[in-house]
Amino acid sequence: SDRTFTMIKPDAVANGHIGAILAKINEAGFRIAAMKYTKITKDQAKKFYEVHQERPFYEDLTDFMSSGTIVAAILEKDNAVADFRKLIGATNPAEAEEGTIRKEFAESMSRNAVHGSDSDENACIEGAFHFSGTEIF
Ligand code: ATP
Repeated sequence: SDRTFTMIKPDAVANGHIGAILAKINEAGFRIAAMKYTKITKDQAKKFYEVHQERPFYEDLTDFMSSGTIVAAILEKDNAVADFRKLIGATNPAEAEEGTIRKEFAESMSRNAVHGSDSDENACIEGAFHFSGTEIF
């Protein structure tokens, strides 16, 4: 079965939405292969979002992602990457479809509740960033 990587971002954690977001993930048929409640440093956030380093929002994004606790998880399901991106909805919550996680829980483009990997390759890289082999089941 395929895997994707997700983070429940600091806004959604601070707003008390961990349980509701995990329920939606569960209802959509994903199995949790790994999960942790954690926090990343500014340097780790910069490394994680390295592909965006030339973008104007890079500083704000990495400040935000290192500003509070997050939930990191590896999710398993057939077609995991594409199906999870469908479940989370558009990056900008104003454009997210009804029923998506971002429609329900995101505050703005930068405080958009969840991350979802955009390819199988990145799912693998991002999962390995947060979990060692013995933490993935
Ligand atoms: P993610 O990678 O978090 O799942 P995404 O793939 O929908 O989101 P990307 O284009 O990869 O979006 O951007 C990564 C993150 O950077 C977004 O989730 C968002 O929080 C932030 N971001 C993207 N574009 C903007 C922008 N124009 N202004 C502010 N923040 C942005």
